[in-house]
Amino acid sequence: MSPRINRVAADARPSPTMGAAAGKTSHEDPISLAVGEPSDPPPPEVATAAERAIAEGRTRYGAVPGLIALRERVAADHAERTGAPTSADNVVVTAGGKPALMDALRCILEPGDEMIVPLPAWPTFLDQPRWLSAKAVTVPAEPDLLPDPDRIAAACTGRTKIILVNSPGNPSGRVWPHDRMAAIVELAKQRDLWLLSDEVYRDLSLVGPAPEPVSIDPEVASRTIVVDSFSKRFSMTGWRVGTVTAPAELASAITALMSSTVTHACAVSQYAALAALGLDGTWEASRLERHRRCRDRAVAALDALDGVALSGSDSGLYAFPDVSGWISEVGLEDDHALCAHLKDTQGLLLVPGTPFGASGRFRLSWSIAEDRLDEALGRLRAAKT
Ligand code: GLU
Repeated sequence: MSPRINRVAADARPSPTMGAAAGKTSHEDPISLAVGEPSDPPPPEVATAAERAIAEGRTRYGAVPGLIALRERVAADHAERTGAPTSADNVVVTAGGKPALMDALRCILEPGDEMIVPLPAWPTFLDQPRWLSAKAVTVPAEPDLLPDPDRIAAACTGRTKIILVNSPGNPSGRVWPHDRMAAIVELAKQRDLWLLSDEVYRDLSLVGPAPEPVSIDPEVASRTIVVDSFSKRFSMTGWRVGTVTAPAELASAITALMSSTVTHACAVSQYAALAALGLDGTWEASRLERHRRCRDRAVAALDALDGVALSGSDSGLYAFPDVSGWISEVGLEDDHALCAHLKDTQGLLLVPGTPFGASGRFRLSWSIAEDRLDEALGRLRAAKT
């Protein structure tokens, strides 16, 4: 006899995207297009601010919901973008986007409750509700990888509490058009549901501002949780800083929860994040141009391959092509097998589509050094010939 972990933990799987990031291959020169992590370093001001915070001893316990200056800045940006009155009372700084999502779910979902998740979706959206004995109810992916509001409405039940929206999307790379997002916003109002809006890729849109729920209708600020992160926008993945912007009641519940869990996000990282938000936008603009070049190269290369169909890519990290033609052409079983084949024969690491709820696809993250991307795309071409 020995003590046991609970049923949810026993069934838990590690994050497929983090697994892909750690993927190994015996290829002599592997190239990873797997994890969604910009390859360029953060702006230099980030490290300078962190060093200064350490040198000045600003490393002790701080306020649980985060640095007041950081919360005020995030609130002001949110108000300016959306037109919804927002103050620091609406903002909590978290240790990255994942805890921001998880803590919001912990404060909303009861066991058996449901969150609607349009596919394809980042596996974390599917896994987190399970930890709370709640359920992610998925809505199948459309060929254009954009959500269908009617199908989302049809998936709602008496147990639905939340609709998850994620634009620009991971893994789709798609920016959801205004009319679709507006229809989902209307649905949330009609059915009295929360909108959980993962906007981690918002500033990486290559097609102009992505319509976000609160900017479409500032009234839905009272039912919307905006999750943001510094990871992709400022290449600060390992610094672990994210934010939740939500109604004040939920923000204080999350603060109470954090006071019993992480206490607060790393103090040094918060000073670094504040410095990033104080930049004049030049670094972000030039990084976006680099992403645009990488996106254009990846899209052109994928479009030129027989058996590969790409339904657009509007934001700066991912392409999620349909490779079902390629899979059957090579006589492989599925997207896992194709990714394994490309890893073994070409040293290319990609994430299969199945963990995102869309089989017959793979996710390609193009934010790597441009010469390495060209090499990787050349290998994809070689694999097809
Ligand atoms: N969000 C990134 C991705 O989808 C990083 C990995 C993760 O956080 O799961 O690749």
